[in-house]
Amino acid sequence: MAIPAPYPIGTPGQPWGDAERAEWLSRQTRHRSYADDVLDMVDRLRSRFDVSQYGELDYAPQTFPLFAIRNRDWNDALPVMLVTGGVHGYETSGVHGALQFVDRHMADYAGRANVLVAPCVSPWAYERIHRWNPHAIDPNRSFRENSPAGESAALMRLVGPLRERVLMHIDLHETTDSDESEFRPALAARDGKPFEPDGIPDGFYLVDDTEHPQPEFQQAVIAAVEKVTHIAPADAKGEIIGSPVVGHGVIRYPLRPLGLCAGVTDAKYKTTTEVYPDSPRATPVQCNDAQAAAVCAAIDYALAHAG
Ligand SMILES: [Zn+2]
Repeated sequence: MAIPAPYPIGTPGQPWGDAERAEWLSRQTRHRSYADDVLDMVDRLRSRFDVSQYGELDYAPQTFPLFAIRNRDWNDALPVMLVTGGVHGYETSGVHGALQFVDRHMADYAGRANVLVAPCVSPWAYERIHRWNPHAIDPNRSFRENSPAGESAALMRLVGPLRERVLMHIDLHETTDSDESEFRPALAARDGKPFEPDGIPDGFYLVDDTEHPQPEFQQAVIAAVEKVTHIAPADAKGEIIGSPVVGHGVIRYPLRPLGLCAGVTDAKYKTTTEVYPDSPRATPVQCNDAQAAAVCAAIDYALAHAG
């Protein structure tokens, strides 16, 4: 494998300071509109679902209102199902898969579950097709007390009162070729560490919780997604992106110690989807369909194994 060129910002071996973060920020450009792509769709869902604003990110000159969508007739006797998308704003099918789930499937769960969807947790990054917020912070390492990321802090305030009542939480992500070409090199540069190239798996996979694994739940989600798109195989080392494959298309991370979104509640059933949109064998429609299928399968499994 070729030795990668040094990242264009900072000095190799030295973590970024304010000047490097500012330089990084100056290179980010707006590619798409949160208002046009997400808020318009959220508005269209208001006639059928309860939409509420749970926060606002102030990144002058822009502000980003944050919205959550609930199914109607919320009933405290029913289990809560949490769906989060766009924690990494560039992971497009996480956002649009969450909205597609609401539009096409959420009404099916009326009277059976309270479903809460936060479809675009990190809208600034959605617009810039980036992983970080404007402070060069990854929201998906920031779900912890006194979070340095406003995106994570807002979601924690939303779900905090429900934390012990959430039965299932599914967090919708993608693994992209740009992870390897841009975001992992940027992370290494930001933290003053060497960048070690790795491969990107071709296919869908899930991340379970090392501390509370639910292998049967994960396989139920994999089985549903496999009808829509292919599942990532293990590499020659038996791994996917450096973690051992513990079941068909499943790896594990210690969610809460890493500050990952999927660890934000005490849900019994937790998973993180990783769709691969750059596959020659996957279309954008398929990616959204895979996310929505994963959400439905996760809720169905949790309902069948509740109590
Ligand atoms: Zn992600």
